[in-house]
Amino acid sequence: MSNMDFNRSFDARHGELVSITDALARVTCNNPGALTFAGTNTFIVGRNELVIIDPGPMDMAHLDALMTAIDERPVKAILVSHTHVDHSPLAGPLREKTGAPVMGCGPHRRATSFADMAETPMDASSQKDFEPDTVLEDGAKISVDGVIIEVVATPGHTENHLSFALPEHGVMLPGDHVMAWSTTIVAPPDGSMNAYMTSLDKLIERAETRYFPSHGGEVKNPKLFLTQLKQHRQMRSDAIVARLRAGDQDVMTMVKAIYTDVDPKLHGAAALNVLAQLDDLIAQKIVLCDGEVTLTAKFTLHELT
Ligand SMILES: [Zn+2]
Repeated sequence: MSNMDFNRSFDARHGELVSITDALARVTCNNPGALTFAGTNTFIVGRNELVIIDPGPMDMAHLDALMTAIDERPVKAILVSHTHVDHSPLAGPLREKTGAPVMGCGPHRRATSFADMAETPMDASSQKDFEPDTVLEDGAKISVDGVIIEVVATPGHTENHLSFALPEHGVMLPGDHVMAWSTTIVAPPDGSMNAYMTSLDKLIERAETRYFPSHGGEVKNPKLFLTQLKQHRQMRSDAIVARLRAGDQDVMTMVKAIYTDVDPKLHGAAALNVLAQLDDLIAQKIVLCDGEVTLTAKFTLHELT
């Protein structure tokens, strides 16, 4: 069940410095997996002076690869999109090696709702001790080697998620917010479907036409892709309403009925997406919950009560 045109072709070339445009290159970490696809792309902006974006997981081979790629050029800043363990932890060691400040998203902050979901699978994937030297707000600009990097706050995947644009180059680095190979996990309580949809609209309104996500390759025709992502979420939301109408009441029953096209290994992640949709439907007063919104709660349609 998908209207999406996902593209999984990507030559990671783990550990190598791969040029993307004259102002942008990447080194992809050798951490492939169900959620990281081919691994985390660390981006390098500039040529004579550099900004490093998303150093990656605590992986010393990747740190060595980054230091080789940097090749003694000065590093002005280390930017971080969000505090998942495949993006932010290497910022500390890279700061020690280069002397560059860590900037970007704020510390991991768990939302205060969903109180009894203290350890969701995604929460365990968060770096809870991330401490940036500077938190960058939406619209902040950093210039490196004549290239302007603009901070574009895109909450949804996580509450603190930032994208980075190179407006003069028409380039967007959307982190985990938009990816060519897969939809993004939006897992409460840190993730929010409502925020995620608003952040998609925010990117649709911008002028950048070349999207390089943190996992996998370039997003082709990003405007169309962003619109399809919105439609895809609406379709999932409609499917959940249909399952509730058919009498399903709990998340896992709905996941098994809806995600028939998805590897069962990813059903845990899908369950969190369904929960995020239910949370949004509750906010819209379409769905009722018998108590705290959790994976084990019972959900019903307002119209059936
Ligand atoms: Zn992430």
